[in-house]
Amino acid sequence: MFPLVANIPIQKISNQFLEKQKVELFIQREDLIHAQVSGNKWRKLKYNIKEYQKEGCENIITFGGAFSNHIAATAAIGKLLNIPTFGIIRGEKIANPTLDAACENGMTLHFVNREEYKKKHQSKEVKNIINSIKKPFVIPEGGSNLFGLKGCEEIVQNFDFDIITCPCGTGSTLSGIISSLKENQYAIGFSVLKGADFLKNDIRKNLQLLNCENFNWRLETNFHFGGYARYESDLIQFIRQFWKLNSIKLDPVYTGKAMYGLYFLIESGQLTGKKILFVHTGGLQGIQGFESRYKLKIF
Ligand SMILES: *Cc1c(COP(=O)(O)O)cnc(C)c1O
Repeated sequence: MFPLVANIPIQKISNQFLEKQKVELFIQREDLIHAQVSGNKWRKLKYNIKEYQKEGCENIITFGGAFSNHIAATAAIGKLLNIPTFGIIRGEKIANPTLDAACENGMTLHFVNREEYKKKHQSKEVKNIINSIKKPFVIPEGGSNLFGLKGCEEIVQNFDFDIITCPCGTGSTLSGIISSLKENQYAIGFSVLKGADFLKNDIRKNLQLLNCENFNWRLETNFHFGGYARYESDLIQFIRQFWKLNSIKLDPVYTGKAMYGLYFLIESGQLTGKKILFVHTGGLQGIQGFESRYKLKIF
């Protein structure tokens, strides 16, 4: 059985800045779902695992970069549910805290060079790996298929907010959230990638798949801090300050950038008078890897 989540806390963030801007800010702690299967990766795996079971498969194969929260989550769920997992990892063989944890959770890793990984749907090498595994269920990178989207439709359960916000990588999480909203609600996504205008189209496609005709959303594309998994010292300082004031950790790849962006919008006065829900999508497992990669200590 897929582990159930009960009563995910929604906490109020109170400080002088928010008071001054006349904004009420709440944070939904999806990061607390599970230490390794955290946040939106848990949501995306839920119906993928159900489908795996329905189809009578015997192994799970998935894809990701060496620091991927999805790889960490899939390995951990495999361990919990006793399902053998295989990770096809982008790039040369390396070791880092994410991949070490995945191995400890029983995931078999196959490293595929970047060129081959890019064309993974046509790649012979990838095909050979998949063909060598018995009755596999293949989950795409990030868990971002229709089953993943369905899981993300379950994130927002409390409809007492004017605005719902979250970070965006592929935009699947935002798509699921948009699809679940009531008429008087509005969603804002914060892209963590540079040059992410293409995501708007991907999100529109996801919404079509979900038969959703909600136009009450937008994507902010100015808070990427140089690109995916890149940072500037401002971002790290913001994350530290947020931790000091609220005792809630944000990660530097996703939730830190999104919260920074949200604070920026609040400060600009665009959200005055609103009751806002920030979805903490998790990702804290990635902090250690980020710290060792950039030789810095965030917390
Ligand atoms: C993967 C991830 C995201 C991005 O989710 P998408 O559905 O791809 O937009 C956001 N936050 C965290 C913590 C993640 O691990």
